[in-house]
Amino acid sequence: MRLKDKVAIITGAGRGIGQATAYKFAREGAKVVVCDLSPEWIEETVETIREKGGESLGFVVDVRDLVALEKMVAEVVQAYGHIDCLVNNAGIVADSQLKNMTGAQFDRVIEVNLKGVYNCAKAVVDVMLRQQFGVILNASSVVGLYGNFGQTNYAASKAGVIGMSNTWARELGRKGIRSNSVCPGFIHTPILGSIPDRVLAALEEKVPLGRLGKPEEIANTFAFLASDEASYINGAVIEVSGGIAL
Ligand code: NAP
Repeated sequence: MRLKDKVAIITGAGRGIGQATAYKFAREGAKVVVCDLSPEWIEETVETIREKGGESLGFVVDVRDLVALEKMVAEVVQAYGHIDCLVNNAGIVADSQLKNMTGAQFDRVIEVNLKGVYNCAKAVVDVMLRQQFGVILNASSVVGLYGNFGQTNYAASKAGVIGMSNTWARELGRKGIRSNSVCPGFIHTPILGSIPDRVLAALEEKVPLGRLGKPEEIANTFAFLASDEASYINGAVIEVSGGIAL
């Protein structure tokens, strides 16, 4: 088990990539802190982990709320004594072409996808500095690297995540803390719900592997990066996209 007895906080872990990551981390022996908005999805994830003999705690926390995040971190430290990994996975979309995008729409995505990632890292950094150990993993996107039609706000947030992750890799590396970004391509999860089927089919055509990705394929990447096998990987930007940009 690659993550035996490690403690990992995963945001947006109630469904999609976050839930698949919670299950993968639990299978690898981690104690998983499931953080999300919906109590039902949190309960499902936590209960599934426990039924299989794993350890898990659930928290209804909005990543926009730094005070609530700090409270969660204090409770996790009280329960488990340490925090080895933070997976900044929660994210949203609110798509429009530039000419139609409103300021509120832009701000909403930045608040969750960019400020939310900052808030979560801010909430755990003192604990990780005290431990002189930690791994911060950040969900960016191929859209943060290459842009995408109708996603000015999302692309800005995901490019910003890479900038923050690389900054933390520089600031915190000597303190035993690694920070890396993962850039998924198009992965089958509820977040793709707003994309029309014909657009999804066209995207599939563009991928050299001939298909969209599965949440488990991103979860596997997070698990590797969280493990000691990735001990020299810091400030990396890892694309997991089936080669969509080739
Ligand atoms: P998803 O299925 O929509 O899951 C995202 C989870 O985050 C949901 O459970 C959602 O809760 C939660 N969430 C949203 N806002 C939150 C907030 N303010 N505080 C706490 N939790 C919040 O998305 P996904 O496809 O698994 O995506 C996971 C991450 O990968 C995101 O950062 C996304 O941008 C990134 N990504 C996804 C793809 C893809 O193709 N799927 C590609 C590239 C990058 P609710 O459902 O209750 O809103």
